[in-house]
Amino acid sequence: MTAYPLGVEVACDGPTAGQDCPDSAAVRAQLTSTTAREVRADGRRDGWRRRRRGTHLVDLCPSCDTDTQEKR
Ligand SMILES: [Zn+2]
Repeated sequence: MTAYPLGVEVACDGPTAGQDCPDSAAVRAQLTSTTAREVRADGRRDGWRRRRRGTHLVDLCPSCDTDTQEKR
């Protein structure tokens, strides 16, 4: 068996609470990013956002980030 550092995956929580992300998106982390905080920093570079939904925080990929309708 080979030891392989899986690191942390930050996956998209989807456009709404009851809806999964249509792309099943996950942040493409840098190899050097091993903590959730570092992976989220990588995601921000690609347009990911961390948003408050009710009482908890969700991670949204660029296509599910519907709160900002800046594009188109
Ligand atoms: Zn998404």
